[in-house]
Amino acid sequence: MLESGIQTLKGIGPQKASLIKKEAGIGSVGDLLYYLPRRYLDRSSFKKIKDCFENEIATISGTIIESAVTGYKKKHLDVIIDDGSDSLTAVFFGGLNYFKKIFNPGDQIILAGKISFFGKKQMVHPDFDFLDESSSIQSINTGRIVPLYRSTEKLRAAGFDSRGFRRIIRSAIDLYLNDMSEIHDSSIISKNGLPGIRDAISALHFPESFSQASDARDRLVYDEIFFILFLFLFIKKKSRETTSKITVHTDLSKFDAFISSLPFQLTPDQALSIEEIKKDILSGYPMNRLLQGDVGSGKTAVSIAASLIAAGTGRQTALMAPTEILASQHYSTFNKFLSGIGMHIDLLTGGTSRSDRKTIYESLASGKTDIIIGTHALLQPELKFNKLGLIVIDEQHRFGVEQRSELRKKGVDADLLVMTATPIPRSLSLTLYGDLDISQIKTRPSNRIPVKTLAFPSSRRRGVYNSIENYISQGRQIYYVLPIIDDSEKTELKSVMSEYENLKNNIFRHRRVELLHGRMKQQEKDVTMKKFASGEIDMLVSTTVIEVGVDVPNASVIIIEHSDRFGLSQLHQLRGRVGRGIHQSFCILLYQDNISEDSLKRINIIKETDDGFEISEQDLVMRGSGELIGSKQHGYDELFEFTDLSKDSEMIMKARSDAIAAVNSDNPGRYIDIIKKTRYRRILDLLYRENIQTIIS
Ligand code: ADP
Ligand code: MG
Repeated sequence: MLESGIQTLKGIGPQKASLIKKEAGIGSVGDLLYYLPRRYLDRSSFKKIKDCFENEIATISGTIIESAVTGYKKKHLDVIIDDGSDSLTAVFFGGLNYFKKIFNPGDQIILAGKISFFGKKQMVHPDFDFLDESSSIQSINTGRIVPLYRSTEKLRAAGFDSRGFRRIIRSAIDLYLNDMSEIHDSSIISKNGLPGIRDAISALHFPESFSQASDARDRLVYDEIFFILFLFLFIKKKSRETTSKITVHTDLSKFDAFISSLPFQLTPDQALSIEEIKKDILSGYPMNRLLQGDVGSGKTAVSIAASLIAAGTGRQTALMAPTEILASQHYSTFNKFLSGIGMHIDLLTGGTSRSDRKTIYESLASGKTDIIIGTHALLQPELKFNKLGLIVIDEQHRFGVEQRSELRKKGVDADLLVMTATPIPRSLSLTLYGDLDISQIKTRPSNRIPVKTLAFPSSRRRGVYNSIENYISQGRQIYYVLPIIDDSEKTELKSVMSEYENLKNNIFRHRRVELLHGRMKQQEKDVTMKKFASGEIDMLVSTTVIEVGVDVPNASVIIIEHSDRFGLSQLHQLRGRVGRGIHQSFCILLYQDNISEDSLKRINIIKETDDGFEISEQDLVMRGSGELIGSKQHGYDELFEFTDLSKDSEMIMKARSDAIAAVNSDNPGRYIDIIKKTRYRRILDLLYRENIQTIIS
């Protein structure tokens, strides 16, 4: 049985079993079979040591000739390897006792790493693996392609380096592979060009070719995405069948008044999004909608409209934003647009005084408050609604899945609208937001003049200062952004503090220059932001705290120092702070004169396109999905064990269409049974911890 503990394998007693469980998370034989190699070595492409040159990344194999602790104060272990063509020294620092034990003259070893030259050829802390093995398992270690596994010092000390893992995985495959049953119909597997599960597991560990290994991994990705999306979609369907909002009567007069009072014409995408939201809110089922729109595309107006529709059904709206600045800005925008319409709006943040908080709680619980806007403070348990109808989450990527559901618990079948200005590639959004319907605002309001983006090396900053002076004298305002707050010894980056001094007391001493950064007190930040918004400040020297959502139309120039230090999406967000008014706006990127090619490439992407989607695609390729969606903070890492969201979009799309078909098939419950019984149970646990019973019953 796949659920058997790994101590059922030869050579693993209870002690080793618990060590492996603790260090590698492998408890059962099934876990072991799914233990993904971290990479493969191609034995046929080993390099001869004599052919290796400096700075090259190479894989070599040879025999250990000598292993000795040497150097000043005996600081490192030198392991000399000979492959018949030449010799090379592998150098290890730290943990010398441990390393001394494992490298023994005569051992056959593989080394992979960067070649350096220090009197003779060497590799410092290379990846290593041993090849010699006694006869019976010779074959598993001498195939052309050799899998390497993640290991730890403790595991290696107990014999579980890659070699040890290969041995126990081989025996697990021999004994248990036949216990694995195929989950999918054979037609589906062959349609997608995938191997069957047994072939996949076997090829994952002992492939005959790299393409076989890659197909095997594809199969695991397919299964993972299939079950995640199946669950998302199944639960969505089920909630349609089991919940309903009872609406006594609907009065959309305030909504209509808002639409006709708007000082501008809605863009077609805004209008369509509002229609989609209206239909959802007025339907009998809870809305689950993502509103995606680039910076400045006008999502706020859509969320105001949504709150008026909710109010029209007699329900309250909660809008949650990631920062206090943003929450207060929404508060004043809502008030501005709704002043003539008569809505009771409250603001609740961490900075709200105790007595104000009490009043706000009471007003909310009594139903007097129509809309409450705030930060995480809205999640406090004391906060109770009279009738929560709509939850709006702004800059959704700043929140975790859990916070979403926490707010949701404050109402019964409340509608949910999550908004994001971080456009993400379709494959990603379909996976991460698989449980949401999507509305998109693709075009910005037509009165916008596109921002001109320019990039200069630091040596040309004089000229940049001159044009800044020029714009200030025309009455414009400036954002001046730097990557770090304080000077630190570790970097040569200019900091906000030092540059602020320089700009305020020196270069722009005749102008009103002020400071904004994340370590300031909330109240100070708010005061400064308000002054900037009302035109009392010419130049705001800031960290990226202004990144999200801030709206000051008269600010038409943003300077970004060390622009090569920012990610693409971040640069795009920052640029979105300007270009909001009637004046031509500029985004000026300064970079070090000795900038790397990679950084220059990113700066060029920003210069060439203003399309957030295109930028996010590029960002995904350059940085991987983890960075883009902040997956580490939000627990997505656990969710995707095999999938790399930045590389697996083809498999994602295939798995998605099959998951849709499965949900709509005659017997979707069949897949729930599979999920319950297999390793995919972990997805259920991760996503739906609280209401598992209702789902699987
Ligand atoms: P974001 O989508 O980044 O949240 P905002 O909602 O802050 O964008 O909108 C940016 C600016 O555009 C605001 O000043 C808003 O009043 C204005 N705006 C929104 N919709 C339109 C429109 N259809 N026409 C003109 N200006 C608009
Ligand atoms: Mg916004």
